[in-house]
Amino acid sequence: MRRVIMSEIDVGNNLRIVRERMLAACQKRADELQSVQPRLVAVSKTKPKALILEAYERGQRHFGENYVHELVEKGHDTEIVEKCSEIKWHFIGHLQRNKVNKALSVPGLCVVETVDTDKLATTLDTVWAKQKGQGAKLKVMAQINTSGEDEKNGCTPEDAIHLVKHILEKCPNLELVGLMTIGKFGHDLSEGPNPDFICLKKVRDDVCQALGIGCNKLELSMGMSDDFEHAIEMGSTNVRVGSIIFGQREKKLSDTHTDTVSEEIKNVTLS
Ligand SMILES: *Cc1c(COP(=O)(O)O)cnc(C)c1O
Repeated sequence: MRRVIMSEIDVGNNLRIVRERMLAACQKRADELQSVQPRLVAVSKTKPKALILEAYERGQRHFGENYVHELVEKGHDTEIVEKCSEIKWHFIGHLQRNKVNKALSVPGLCVVETVDTDKLATTLDTVWAKQKGQGAKLKVMAQINTSGEDEKNGCTPEDAIHLVKHILEKCPNLELVGLMTIGKFGHDLSEGPNPDFICLKKVRDDVCQALGIGCNKLELSMGMSDDFEHAIEMGSTNVRVGSIIFGQREKKLSDTHTDTVSEEIKNVTLS
């Protein structure tokens, strides 16, 4: 018999449905995208450990968190470390430089998707080398603010070449694996393809051309619960899906994390 956790949330079934929808979206892509297998990152922010264990048991390996304190708590949790030896954490939130040390100490950290300034890249580069020594590189993505909204993080599309160049040339301990955007919420597909996804693809083309990188070398992290299928059809290689796997998040967080409340409002209540 299946173990039932958190009564009404059936993580296993939700995961199965998301994977099926991803497959169907893959089949709708243009021929030149058919060789790419997009990755599902299950965004577990604000959700309890039990749901992560449940998803892991159902074969999920990549998980996303966007608050450092939560990444640290879950990433170091003894039960998760023991039972989820292949877990791969994606950090997808705004990263303050004074928290880099903590974030990079997490076992199973796979990629920091939200590098948006030279300074943050350099700090990650230095701290990673200090913690792990030279040789093992930390995977990162450059976060681009494709919608130009003040409340979204990310470098401007115009600054993307500069940021990528900085990472490639000045950060020997980082491996740039892709570009990431959050984008504007609530795009109406009847008005055509999502402009944020078009923008991220264009930024990738520009960056690759300017710096002589093969475009298939840079991933595109775009698409969330509301639009992951469309993102895949547009060439996303990494979708970050939270609420349709783990259930809606509480909109009001405890007052002890006021910095995260504003992040949560940014990411959720506008949707
Ligand atoms: C919360 C969050 C997600 C997941 O959002 P859902 O709408 O719940 O799928 C994806 N990416 C980022 C950066 C987030 O903060």
